[in-house]
Amino acid sequence: MSEYPAHIEIEPHVHLVRGKNEARFPEANTLIIDDEILTLVDAGSHPEQVFSTLRDLGHKPEDLDRIVLTHFHADHKGYTSHFRRISNCEVLCHPLARDAVESFETMMKTIGIVSPETKEQWLSLLRSRLPHVQDDYIVDGTFRDDRPIDCGEVQLTPIHSPGHTHDHTCFGINGLEKILLVDIDLTDFGPWYGNIVSDLEDFRKSIERIIDLQPPMGISSHLLDPVTEGLDEQLRSYLAFFDKRDEEILHHIGEGVDTVKQLAQVPIIYPRIPYSVYLLFEEIMLDKHIEFLSKNDLVLLEDGHIQLQRA
Ligand SMILES: [Zn+2]
Repeated sequence: MSEYPAHIEIEPHVHLVRGKNEARFPEANTLIIDDEILTLVDAGSHPEQVFSTLRDLGHKPEDLDRIVLTHFHADHKGYTSHFRRISNCEVLCHPLARDAVESFETMMKTIGIVSPETKEQWLSLLRSRLPHVQDDYIVDGTFRDDRPIDCGEVQLTPIHSPGHTHDHTCFGINGLEKILLVDIDLTDFGPWYGNIVSDLEDFRKSIERIIDLQPPMGISSHLLDPVTEGLDEQLRSYLAFFDKRDEEILHHIGEGVDTVKQLAQVPIIYPRIPYSVYLLFEEIMLDKHIEFLSKNDLVLLEDGHIQLQRA
């Protein structure tokens, strides 16, 4: 048993199912919309959490009608194939997510895992932390940014927020006052953009867009509680990570570290590298910073060697 309740009510019909492991990777939170169309948003919380919530709401697992996925990542699509086997529910995702959700092989390519070596590292991480995400299955349909998903009483408004991944989508719950922020996750780690389909500048813009919307409530996929108090401030601190990482990278380059591989050995973004495949993610994120810094004339990149650009 977890030390915290499996679910909390966000508003009538809308419940936050908290992932195990305090909702941290490899788990993620799930929303249950207990409505005419019994809907899950993401399927990253352990089935025990989801099923006990359904039971408390008077449902059985086989009653599930639909799963809406926020993006193709393994910790969010999570137990989709398992839930679908039980309930035969439909699965919806963003058009850009479709191929990577349907095929495990395409998911790896979309992440940027292509060499046999990184593939083996990734599979070993999955075997130990996410053994349930390797099934292929068919996505029944896609949602559109400008078209709310109708659950009955509740409307979910997709807000395409690329950066973390190209398909990453936040959801407004009955308008834009309460927003599922997904992996604009407000954790102490900060933003994560370690896939080839991630984009640092898009990520910034997506956070800025959420700040502009001034939602009174933001729900992270990796925090146990929705954020209401100080949400604006928390979003701004989260945005500030990009500049802080730029500065740290510049500092190390100033000290003579002159390749991405060496920077990744520090490491800069991860506090440590617990699984070897994380080194690939660290390098991809650093590559994006170097690209940005070079575009802004702060570093010079020549034959893979980086140096500070002096004015
Ligand atoms: Zn993600």
